[in-house]
Amino acid sequence: MTNFKANFKSNFIFITGGVVSSLGKGIITASLASLIEELNYKVNIIKLDPYLNVDAGTMNPYEHGEVFITFDGGETDLDIGHYERFTNILFSKNNNITAGKIYMDLITKEREGVFLGKTIQVVPHLTNEIKEKILKLSDGFDFILVEVGGTVGDIEGLPFLEAIRQMAIEYKNKVKFIHITFVPFLKHTGELKTKPSQHSIKKLQESGIQPDLVIVRSDIPITQEIKNKIALFSNLLPKYVINIPNLSNVYQVPLLLLNQNISNFLFNNKRKNDLKERSKWVDLNIIIKKIERQSNVINIAIIGKYTNLKDSYKSLIEALRHSSIENKAKINIKLIDSTKHENRIIKKELQYIDGFIIAGGFGTRGIQGKINILKYLREKGIPTLGICLGLQLMVIEFFQNVLNIKEATSQEFILDKNNTLKDDDRYIYVVKLMEDQKYIKLVGGTMRLGNYKCKIIENTLAFKIYQQNEIVERHRHRYEINNEYLDLLESKGFIVSGINEELNVVEIMEYVNHPFYFGVQFHPEFNSRVFRPNKLFTFFINLLKKRKS
Ligand code: GLN
Repeated sequence: MTNFKANFKSNFIFITGGVVSSLGKGIITASLASLIEELNYKVNIIKLDPYLNVDAGTMNPYEHGEVFITFDGGETDLDIGHYERFTNILFSKNNNITAGKIYMDLITKEREGVFLGKTIQVVPHLTNEIKEKILKLSDGFDFILVEVGGTVGDIEGLPFLEAIRQMAIEYKNKVKFIHITFVPFLKHTGELKTKPSQHSIKKLQESGIQPDLVIVRSDIPITQEIKNKIALFSNLLPKYVINIPNLSNVYQVPLLLLNQNISNFLFNNKRKNDLKERSKWVDLNIIIKKIERQSNVINIAIIGKYTNLKDSYKSLIEALRHSSIENKAKINIKLIDSTKHENRIIKKELQYIDGFIIAGGFGTRGIQGKINILKYLREKGIPTLGICLGLQLMVIEFFQNVLNIKEATSQEFILDKNNTLKDDDRYIYVVKLMEDQKYIKLVGGTMRLGNYKCKIIENTLAFKIYQQNEIVERHRHRYEINNEYLDLLESKGFIVSGINEELNVVEIMEYVNHPFYFGVQFHPEFNSRVFRPNKLFTFFINLLKKRKS
């Protein structure tokens, strides 16, 4: 038994997945939370990740998609991003609990002597630690959705399944389980196959968990016959098997869930029909449909180096989508791999693009390609938004090609083999390591992370965009624009229009002799929601729309 007293008002909904990963569990969980929130219930979401990293911060985007930054500086799983984009909830880093974090806290307690004399075991000690963390985040909420990462059957996931199984006994009718599976369509026989789903449901049941609802993901809509079959193997009535086929837009998911009577499952009889017609997702989907029918398309390119995996730029892509809905403009996003432009730019790839975003990133790979592309965009007057590393490269390119200081670079690119800074007078560090970063030895969780204020300078484009004197945005970086050289940049029209006064860090720069050449040290993409897009992207798309008409 855990020490923490639960709020018995809380309803727990545990969401597991089977068959394959990347089923969109995060989007379904976020959609459920949004529907619950619409009925004014207090809802919280927890993501349990069975991997042993303490957080997602040290993972390459290719391993696990983007790292999502929370307001309080958490480097979290990208699902936390989905949760924020669909709801009004502001998530803390504590809402993402990895197995690594649980083991670390448990072992720390053991060293402190908390369990003195006892043998520490997975059951009950590790499972208690999991339950305690869930309960702590449940206090004061009507609904707690807990998404268990990974796939049922993974070795790492077993303690999590055991912990939530125990919670079903401890909190009886307050607990529901949703299992999400996949039904593949075999092209050569033209059949939908339920066998993998049957196996994964069996596997879940072997862990002592009986799903209350099965959500079937599929490439094409499944038939009632398939639903019946899955229901039979799941010990469920067919009405508790619902289907989410692939959709053109993830923001259709809440409505699709509503249309399949998810309210019956979530709420008691009194409230179950309250959402039917008046959900905010109804209107949003009407707008989305209208936009999809438009023939004019704004082409936006994201220049980066993790372009093989779209999930690496998840928040950025979604933020652009939010602002396109706000502008009622259809957009098409193209990912361009900057490493292909290292020797010289391939103009063909940059053609017909209305606006460019130079994305954030780390390390030297792909840098020269980005600089080459920036030179072209600056000279041609093509709207360009630089984010974090993007801003830093805008500054470097400006020094190299406008001020003709070819030695200009960032300290990040001149690290020696041991990853330590080299004092090399062949280079001029126009981008340098932040002062407080110099003494940091650990890699995980040590960047300048999360919310910081940015003062907006009046009579600038930035002020026109934000219409306020101060904004707060999320950050994730170690390097900054070197203030020593700002006068030189400003003398040529590349001016500072946003600054963090406490740390004296440049936050926004803009080039006055250009239609839109705008760089930000922060990551506006982490602060955009479908019902409240980020002002910067909204302005950007609005500008592209006006230029096109
Ligand atoms: N690598 C750069 C830094 O650490 C930029 C980081 C980013 O783009 N998120 O400052």
